[in-house]
Amino acid sequence: MSLGIYIQIPFCQTKCTYCNFHTGVVSSARFGPYADAVQTEIREHPSRLGAAGVMLPATLESSVVDTVYFGGGTPSLLDPTHLQGILEVIRETFTTAFTEVTLEADPETIGSEKAAAWVAAGINRISFGVQSFSDIELKTAGRMHRRADVYRAVPILQAAGICNISCDLIAGLPRQTPESWRNSLHELISLEPQHASIYLLEVDENSRLGNELLRGGSKYSAPAVPSDDAMAEAYNLARISLVAAGYEHYEISNFAKAGFASRHNRKYWRREPYLGFGAGAHSFSGTQRWANARDAAVYVQSVAAGVAPVEQLESIAASQALEEELFLGLRQLAGVDLNRLQKFYGVSVEHRFTPLEASGMIERDGNVVRLAPERLSISNEVFVELMR
Ligand code: SF4
Repeated sequence: MSLGIYIQIPFCQTKCTYCNFHTGVVSSARFGPYADAVQTEIREHPSRLGAAGVMLPATLESSVVDTVYFGGGTPSLLDPTHLQGILEVIRETFTTAFTEVTLEADPETIGSEKAAAWVAAGINRISFGVQSFSDIELKTAGRMHRRADVYRAVPILQAAGICNISCDLIAGLPRQTPESWRNSLHELISLEPQHASIYLLEVDENSRLGNELLRGGSKYSAPAVPSDDAMAEAYNLARISLVAAGYEHYEISNFAKAGFASRHNRKYWRREPYLGFGAGAHSFSGTQRWANARDAAVYVQSVAAGVAPVEQLESIAASQALEEELFLGLRQLAGVDLNRLQKFYGVSVEHRFTPLEASGMIERDGNVVRLAPERLSISNEVFVELMR
């Protein structure tokens, strides 16, 4: 069995206006102690998790770690020696055969020396927070980088030997227009990354822009956010353009050239096990899910105190596992095989899809159901209907 490892680095240079992640802008003096705490957590995870009530299956402990994902935050801010140290501890602690080691990176943090050190450490995939090729949108959203940084960074990565680059765009940033979105898509496709992710702006009260959209105001340019319909149109244009450019649309937000679908992220959607380390990191063993303390200082203190930094722990009942299969399975364009679910869980969910099929939200191909392509931009509404 294979196992994925996620490492959360919750630090950023500034806070983007739309960001709803639990990340902080802190002195770089805190990066080293944090990376040390992550190493300790990895080394001592079996005994500490056991004491916290996590029951690690024997199959999981003997699994081969084939994917690692450094996410954030902005993990590329860390000194490469910190990342290298964490990867070394993973190699010492687990049986490893790395096929995909991803680092999330912001374009302005990339330089030749860093890129060479990342490759030497074993990183072979970079996930780039491009978000837009419009400097007006980037500035309004509080991003540190500009369009030119992307064009400077990509050749540096390629020269260092990174052959697997993913670029993210966000549909719905303030001041985005149909024309600027078309241009961002065009520039992304011209760069020929192996992978692309297209996200819709998330509106909730955990970001400054989201708060403004919900409560009113203009400090973060909420009035310049495109309408829901414009966002849906932008998403659909991205879907059609990327597929026409040779990308496989394999998950609601994700597109890949042949052979470049994210092996690590697929584990989440396929309910395969993964262990998360670092502040706020989530883990899934197959029967339990748990999450670490989100606050980086609390996390470091817990690790120093000799305990697992686990804040939430839940066991997954069969009924919940089935709901997760449906929700996560429908995110994948391959769809959900209802026969497989019936065999595994001993219950039929056929009847739940009948009204969705009748209303055109779901397509059916024998035993397999999947979201209708034109409904992908409103997938949350489909999920709400399904869970009724
Ligand atoms: S770089 Fe990413 S994680 Fe950091 S503040 Fe911006 S959106 Fe949030």
